[in-house]
Formats: sequence, C-alpha cells, structure tokens
Amino acid sequence: MRVVVCVRQGLDGELGPFDASAYEMALSLADAEVTLLSMGPATASEWLLRLTRLGAQKAILLSDKALAGADTLATAYALSLAVGRLAPDLVLCGRQTLIGDTAQTGPMLAELAGFDLATGVMGIRALGDGRALLDTREGEAEVALPALLTVEKVGTLRLPRLRSRVGEVEVWNAAALGADVARCGLGGSPTRVVKTFENQTGKRKCQWISMYELDRVIREGLGKQTPLADSEQSGERLARVCIVGESPRGFAELVSDDIVLLPLTDASELAERITALSPSAVLWASDSASKQLAARVAARLRLGLCADCTSLAVEGGELMMIRPALSGSVIAKIRSMTLPAMATVRTESGSVSDVIVGVGMGVKDDLGRVRVFAERYGAELCASRRLVDNGYATYDMQVGLTGKVVSPPVYVAVGISGAVHHIAGMQRAGTVIAINPDKNAPIFDYADYGIVAEF
Ligand SMILES: Cc1cc2nc3c(=O)[nH]c(=O)nc-3n(C[C@H](O)[C@H](O)[C@H](O)COP(=O)(O)OP(=O)(O)OC[C@H]3O[C@@H](n4cnc5c(N)ncnc54)[C@H](O)[C@@H]3O)c2cc1C
Repeated sequence: MRVVVCVRQGLDGELGPFDASAYEMALSLADAEVTLLSMGPATASEWLLRLTRLGAQKAILLSDKALAGADTLATAYALSLAVGRLAPDLVLCGRQTLIGDTAQTGPMLAELAGFDLATGVMGIRALGDGRALLDTREGEAEVALPALLTVEKVGTLRLPRLRSRVGEVEVWNAAALGADVARCGLGGSPTRVVKTFENQTGKRKCQWISMYELDRVIREGLGKQTPLADSEQSGERLARVCIVGESPRGFAELVSDDIVLLPLTDASELAERITALSPSAVLWASDSASKQLAARVAARLRLGLCADCTSLAVEGGELMMIRPALSGSVIAKIRSMTLPAMATVRTESGSVSDVIVGVGMGVKDDLGRVRVFAERYGAELCASRRLVDNGYATYDMQVGLTGKVVSPPVYVAVGISGAVHHIAGMQRAGTVIAINPDKNAPIFDYADYGIVAEF
C-alpha cells in the first residue's frame, strides 16, 4: 500500500497537530510504504529528514522560487503533480494547518488528482479490495482507492525509536514536476491578501459583576439578537451573488440585492450552474460538507476561494473578503483575481443550545458542579483544548482553532484563561460571561461581563 502524507512546516518550525495525526495514522497502517510530501523553502529538507526517522521511507520536498507565495489552489496544483508522479493508493492530509487554517488544500488536491475524498477522518477501520472503511466526525464512511483523507486531531505522533534510521529526502523543482509556472506560487494564486491588521474581533468592554447577578445577565443575553456578520451593509452593491444552501443569505445581503439560491448538490453540477449563471460571487456556508464542496468546485473551475470569512465588503466594484488568520491573531482582507469570487462564510454555530458553558482547566476538579449549573439553563457543555488533551472532556466538545466554532446567544466561560486559539472558536457569541479568579486573565478582554471569583 503506497501512502503519501502531505505535511507543512509550521511557523514554530514543527509539525501542526492535524498533520501529526495524519502522519501517525499512516505509520499505523500495516505494510504501508509511507512517503512524506511537502512544499516549502529548501531549508525544510532538514526538518523533513528528521521526520523520516519516525518511519517514512522517503520524503519529497517541492521547492522552487516559482512555487513561493502560493495560496491553497496553487499549492494543491503543485502537490497534485507530485501525487501524479508518486501514484499512491492513499493520500493523508491534516484537516488544516495553523498558518492558513483554511481546510481547503486537501479537498482541492483530491479534485485535481481525481481522487475520491473523505474529510473529518478519525480512523481507518479497514483497507482492501480497492476500498477504505473509515470513522469520520460525521459517522462511518467508505471511499474507493485511490483516495485522499483529511484527518482530524486524533492520536499522538510517536517518538523516534533509539536505533531508528532516517529515510531519503528528494527535492523536486517546478521543472521536475512538469509544472505550468503560471499556475504556481504567488503569480498562480487567485486570492491575494490586500492587507492584514491586528485582530480586534471579539474584544469587548467587560463589566464586573458578582456571582449573584449571573442569572440576570444570562437571561438578558437570551433576549438579545446575535449579529450575523461583523460589518454593516456595504454601500456599493455587487451584481448577482449565488449562495449554496440558504445559510449564507445574510452575508450575501451585505453586498448584493440580486441573490440566487443554489442547492448543495455535487461538484460537477454546481460548477456547471455557476458557469452558466456567471455571478460576481458565490458564497458557501462553513460546515464541513459545504467547505469541501466549495474547495472541489474552486479547483475544478480554477477559481480563488477564501475560507471562513467573518465579513464582506464591496470596494471599487470588487468583493473584499475579511477573515482571521495566523491562529486568529490577525485579520486579513483578501480579494480574488478570478471571477466569480468565492468564499466560505462563518455561518456554522456548531451548537444547538442558546447557552453554552465553556469549561477549562481551572475547574477540572469541579466538573460535576459545573454540569449542575449548566443543566439549570439547558446549556451545552463545551471545553478548552487543555481540558480535552488532559482527558477531562472529549474532542467533539472542543471549541477553538483546532476544535469547532460556536456563536450561541450566551457563552459562559468557566475556568478558561482566554488563549487566542480558544477565542477563535467563540468570539462571535452574542453575550460572553467569564468566571475566573485571575482578574488579568485574557478572557476578560473578550467578555461583556466578568466575575472575578472561583467557580
Ligand atoms: C496550535 C494550537 C492550537 C490550539 N487550539 C486550541 C483550541 O482549538 N481550543 C482551545 O481551547 N485551545 C487551543 N489551544 C490551546 C490554548 O493555547 C490554551 O493552552 C488553552 O486554551 C488553555 O486552556 P484553559 O484555558 O482551559 O487552561 P489554562 O490556560 O490553564 O487556564 C485555566 C484558567 O482557569 C482559571 N481558574 C483556576 N481556578 C479556577 C476556578 N476555581 N474557577 C474558575 N477559574 C479558575 C485560572 O485563573 C486560569 O485562567 C491551542 C494551542 C495551539 C498551540
């Protein structure tokens, strides 16, 4: 079984948590011949060599000036040429990196390589007869080989064995790939960052209250409307905008009065409809089914796709797409060089309850009392990554950059410090209430109400 694992070196020089899970999943397959595949500067070959010590037979580094500055489509194009040469039975990719955190490259690569696709993969149950049986976030799934799987943050990457040996690292440039350089690197990237600025999203003016006022502010919060997007209606209007599924309509109304609804069908039918309608923009929801379909259609039509937009605007007749980046620490304004412009917009509330109680390490020994408190409001319990990583909560409860995004009317953060990675997943809640004995905890910068106390 030939298995390729796509990995990207993080800003910290290490492997991100999703890529690490994908690599571990590949190494756990019996009789697998594992090849690491990465795109980056020549300096990444040292890092790849170290990674081969864990068990990969070899690593391929795509490195060339012509490949630099690539967005997800240009990256997927270069990777697809390498996959074409390696001809694996299975390609494993982490759900997302922590640099772009778009979750687009995997599905785009599957489309360009002509591979079957499964996203949100938690485990491989069986492999054989040209098929793979999988556990995914959405339940059981089956794909035909060759297939590409995007892997969730499950399992921990093994450590090198004492006498483990390194594999070989080959460096391939654009010529070796037979690449059309016009589709590579910054020049071949249809999405362009116009500017970035510090992420003030979610910052709030915190009002200090006592524990006795908690019930009142929760009930008041339930009566408030949660704003859909972080911006007002744009003065300039776009001609026709298509929405795939109903939920992006609120975002579309920010920028256009001519909105066409398209059903969530398959990639080929949607690509045909979009080409026939020739809209200015196409908006998709940010649930995993919509995101993977959007990525496949974008690859099929060679269009730019901007992920997880929190707001939209029209400037000079062009759609400007606003999204958090770099683990939520900055906001990027992005334009598309191709038309229609395409974006997934943050619609997914990921929760069914109007009240979510987010639990952190601060109350790991008090979860029983927190549960009783939550039941009083019919609230859903969510968790920080530290609580999940330490085994006090399950991964499906995790909120944040490497968890789910929630935007309920009321979010009560109990025993959570307020790291940017967590904030990225709940900053668009209607009312945020934080309970923490440390008055300097960053969570209070993102709360409407603060209770400086032990829960
Ligand atoms: C690449 C990457 C991705 C990440 N992704 C995520 C993600 O998706 N989601 C996420 O949550 N984190 C994520 N993290 C981790 C994140 O950076 C923080 O480490 C984590 O969110 C901290 O969890 P915490 O607030 O529960 O714990 P801590 O930071 O330990 O905070 C515990 C808090 O509890 C308070 N406290 C103590 N006792 C009490 C009490 N009795 N009552 C009330 N409060 C009390 C303390 O004052 C403290 O502020 C990620 C990190 C990285 C590097």
